[in-house]
Amino acid sequence: MEKISRYDECKNCKHKFIASFVETNLNNGEKEVYFGCVKCGIDESILRIIDYADLTPEEQDEVNYLRSEDMYHRDDVTFDEDTVCHLPLAMAIYSRIKETKPDLDEETTFKYFKRALAGMRKSNNEARKVGRIRRLSLENKEVLFTPKEVTIDIE
Ligand SMILES: [Zn+2]
Repeated sequence: MEKISRYDECKNCKHKFIASFVETNLNNGEKEVYFGCVKCGIDESILRIIDYADLTPEEQDEVNYLRSEDMYHRDDVTFDEDTVCHLPLAMAIYSRIKETKPDLDEETTFKYFKRALAGMRKSNNEARKVGRIRRLSLENKEVLFTPKEVTIDIE
């Protein structure tokens, strides 16, 4: 069997995009959003690599694909704050859902995926909240142990 090129692999995929990388332009404060597909793993943020020669042949295929007509004027993709995720992680979650629920169609799988992502984000936030509460009480202790008056000698 002939190995399908990375270019065709991407071309044949009915992408399901998430925002894989968000960068803030320091000059105008605008957000630059890069999208990645949870199915084939094509990731726009590869376009940030300036030197084409530094890329592997597969990555060059990806860049060529991203610069092809297919990828221009996509109106199916909107920036969704809820789906910003590191692409390899997103892909792992997506394929895990496909594995456990193989009979679902792609739309539904993607819905499950978004829900899983939102759930993860929520529990992360909660863990962070607990961490912050811990830190705050630690800070309070520090306050308790700090002498009430500190005299500083100037001169
Ligand atoms: Zn894809």
